[in-house]
Amino acid sequence: MSRPVRVRFAPSPTGPLHIGGVRTALFNYLFAKKHGGVFYLRIEDTDQNRFVPGAEEYIFEALEWLGISPSETVGKNEKFGPYRQSERETMYREYADRLIASGNAYIAFDTPEALDAHRKDHEANGKTFIYNHHNREKLDNSLTNSAEKVLERIASGEDYVVRFKTPVDEVLHLKDIIRGEIKFDTNLLDDKVLFKSDGMPTYHLANIVDDHLMETSHVIRGEEWLPSLPLHVLLYRAFGWEAPEFAHLPLILKPIGNGKLSKRDGDKMGFPVFPLEWQTEEGVSSGYREKGFFPEAVVNFLALLGWNDGSEKELFSLEELAQSFDLNRVHKAGAKFDPEKNKWFNHQYLITKSDEELSQLFAPALSEKGISIDASKLAKIVSLIKERAHFVSEFWELSDYFFEAPTLYDEKAAKNWKEETPALMSDLFQLLENIDDFSSSNVETIVKDWMAQNEIGMGKVMQPLRLSLVGALKGPHLFDIMELIGKEETISRIKRAIANL
Ligand code: GLU
Repeated sequence: MSRPVRVRFAPSPTGPLHIGGVRTALFNYLFAKKHGGVFYLRIEDTDQNRFVPGAEEYIFEALEWLGISPSETVGKNEKFGPYRQSERETMYREYADRLIASGNAYIAFDTPEALDAHRKDHEANGKTFIYNHHNREKLDNSLTNSAEKVLERIASGEDYVVRFKTPVDEVLHLKDIIRGEIKFDTNLLDDKVLFKSDGMPTYHLANIVDDHLMETSHVIRGEEWLPSLPLHVLLYRAFGWEAPEFAHLPLILKPIGNGKLSKRDGDKMGFPVFPLEWQTEEGVSSGYREKGFFPEAVVNFLALLGWNDGSEKELFSLEELAQSFDLNRVHKAGAKFDPEKNKWFNHQYLITKSDEELSQLFAPALSEKGISIDASKLAKIVSLIKERAHFVSEFWELSDYFFEAPTLYDEKAAKNWKEETPALMSDLFQLLENIDDFSSSNVETIVKDWMAQNEIGMGKVMQPLRLSLVGALKGPHLFDIMELIGKEETISRIKRAIANL
């Protein structure tokens, strides 16, 4: 492996990028970083029928959000450009011709109707029709028509495709970095179309030509491309080019049951399968960004889908990932997607952020409610609740009582409000009225002394007090809450509870 490392992500812009595609991009990015190489992005848009407006922009935006943008791509360091295959369209034909000239490909005139008839014929006899070495010499192509006839038919404007002439009777021993050696029998392969009648290359031809011209050293892609590996290797051989090394990443599996993670699983269980929200006429598909995930958390959980560094370590920054990433440690087996664990990752990143940063993220929700609050106070509130949150969007529910007096009291908790409680609570607010230093620790000392002197049990006071201030038996240290809402508000809430409970 002496070639400089150049790896690529080669999505087809046919819709929003699935989270599996994002992981492929990430692994390529990490591999390039680890080896001081280049990560580039090529848009594979030769299939015009599947073009979806906005999909290309979506891909770039998603990678940028995650901090894994390519260093060469459309409009950026176009060293081997263009990076959009539709703009390279005119050059592929020459490569198809080269293969025809060297006897590695041939022209085929079989119409879709003729192929369909063959298929039906075979089916009727319980067989499957495959265009391959068995029958190519009986079908309508340049192997069965004379050279003049072929030229004549082309000149007359007949439609044709170019097919690869798969070699016969060979067992290929191919190497995959993740899977080791894989054997393929060439007799089982079909003669794939390389060039279509619409004048465009197929994925296979364009992909190989571009990977070669763009000096790709390693192809790291999803397992679904493994069946294409023998054809790709044979194409490199036919061109006389050095093939890149290959690594096929394991599938991402459903959280429950078997099979590939799909959008349906996400819809059913309420988690996104896309990095960013995607809107179509049919509706909106949610995205990790809009759900409130931090990009670092998404990068982290994606990296661990099929890879670990050999230790129990789970939290990795992008930098750390780039240092430890090793394709040899990617597993063969599919990786189960765990939406609950993903939330845990987000929580881990949330709690490492400063209270100030989190306050800023929380502030828009507060101003929407018309609440303005001193920055240092807000930071204090955030520090008290962040341990309980997976997302900033949960902050309001966890902290509303800091901003508004409770209007409802949790019914079950209200059972702690006993006959003797109102009298105790009014003794308590009288005590509080006389405290000047309303800091958490001072109030705590005074209240606890008072309870001890009067032999009042903790629960008798603390639970009704919490109910009065919060409306339920939840929340952080009660005296911290009192300090933050202040003396007046504390007393007014106790009075309200006496009146209402
Ligand atoms: N255009 C292919 C895709 O959409 C690229 C496959 C490959 O990486 O070779 O995934």
